[in-house]
Amino acid sequence: MKTGRGTSASVLTCELRRELRPHRRLRPGKIPAPSPVSRSVNELREAEVVVIGAGQAGLSSAYHLRRTGFEPDRDFVVLDHSPAPGGAWQFRWPSLTYGKVHGMHALPGMELTDADPARPSAEVIGAYFDRYERAFGLRVRRPVDVLAVRQDDGGRLSVETSAGTWSTRALINATGTWDRPFWPRYPGQETFLGRQLHTAQYAGPEEFAGKRVVVVGGGASGTQHLLELAPYAAATTWVTRRPPVFREGPFDQEAGREAVARVEERVRRGLPPRSVVSVTGLPLNDAVRQGLADGVLDRQPMFERITPDGVEWSDGRRVAADVILWATGFRAALDHLTPLRLREPGGGIRVEGTRAVADPRVHLVGYGPSASTVGANRAGRSAVRDIRRLLSEEQPVAA
Ligand SMILES: Cc1cc2nc3c(=O)[nH]c(=O)nc-3n(C[C@H](O)[C@H](O)[C@H](O)COP(=O)(O)OP(=O)(O)OC[C@H]3O[C@@H](n4cnc5c(N)ncnc54)[C@H](O)[C@@H]3O)c2cc1C
Repeated sequence: MKTGRGTSASVLTCELRRELRPHRRLRPGKIPAPSPVSRSVNELREAEVVVIGAGQAGLSSAYHLRRTGFEPDRDFVVLDHSPAPGGAWQFRWPSLTYGKVHGMHALPGMELTDADPARPSAEVIGAYFDRYERAFGLRVRRPVDVLAVRQDDGGRLSVETSAGTWSTRALINATGTWDRPFWPRYPGQETFLGRQLHTAQYAGPEEFAGKRVVVVGGGASGTQHLLELAPYAAATTWVTRRPPVFREGPFDQEAGREAVARVEERVRRGLPPRSVVSVTGLPLNDAVRQGLADGVLDRQPMFERITPDGVEWSDGRRVAADVILWATGFRAALDHLTPLRLREPGGGIRVEGTRAVADPRVHLVGYGPSASTVGANRAGRSAVRDIRRLLSEEQPVAA
């Protein structure tokens, strides 16, 4: 079996064995120079591992692949359909400054230092990811849209993209959730004469000056939108399905482990994951305390229907609105994996660690329990460890 540049799998396995010795830590500027990329995209059609997505999860995976002896562009490729480095962070609204994000963990091997908390997180993290990709020579290919992943006749996976098809032995899927905003359906939604938008389209509070805005959703985005909109909007109304749970005090390791374990449990049973944030509760910081005291965060239960000019509850109470802002979260962006039939009857993909139970060549990193920056880091390492084992078991080294 040959890879794109004629490296046989057994040779690769030898390399992997060599790399199983204690690793040199890769340091920016102290890594072997990557092989020159003079080939056009269309010449490289086989890889040992394809990584889809270059957010926190994909870059962490690529780092660990590189660190354990896989060469970018020879043994693995990273494909991403966004225009620039930064994963989904590049699309987040400018008023989401770096100081407002909570618990952003650095990627492995390179700290994010001296970030200005007043700068938009999209800029700070975009620039950091850019530095990171260059420092470790990860050679992310963008914009490359992965359209479908299929099983091919020779026991490999075929990754169909906007830039041609790659054949691979293993896949790390790290496509996040940003591309699949979730819009719940309510009766009368299509009759609403005002504007409806999702968090994914929110660009800051200024455009809502003088408007009456209903914000739907009890997560961190919903509360952040409300706190930002209050000084601009004519009125805001906050509705959530369940009463929000605020978390007092620091979110310690024990609480983190518990939250992750709860998401993990669902995923193991083949149910669609809830976001880690949904089980951690909302941090009760100073801004939130003030919002609660001012009545900006005065939560109403979910309305029953949407009318042309607002929303209406079952008891006949109405609120007039110009805008409904759906801060209702995201789902895992996995449509391109549909041909692999990984989904369980419960609607989720069963994973053990990061490995899809239905197909051990496929790893989901940043999915379910690893859908946080710290989780994505750990999951990248564990997926690579597992894939190394799988590839060396599949192809014993020739004597
Ligand atoms: C508003 C908001 C704030 C958040 N704040 C925090 C926080 O403070 N701390 C924290 O830990 N977490 C936070 N999170 C969660 C955070 O997004 C994750 O922790 C982490 O950044 C996700 O990384 P990821 O690599 O899994 O996904 P992403 O960053 O979404 O990266 C996925 C990448 O995959 C690419 N992609 C998707 N589909 C395809 C395809 N078919 N073909 C090719 N490429 C594709 C995308 O272009 C993207 O670059 C926040 C989430 C949101 C929505």
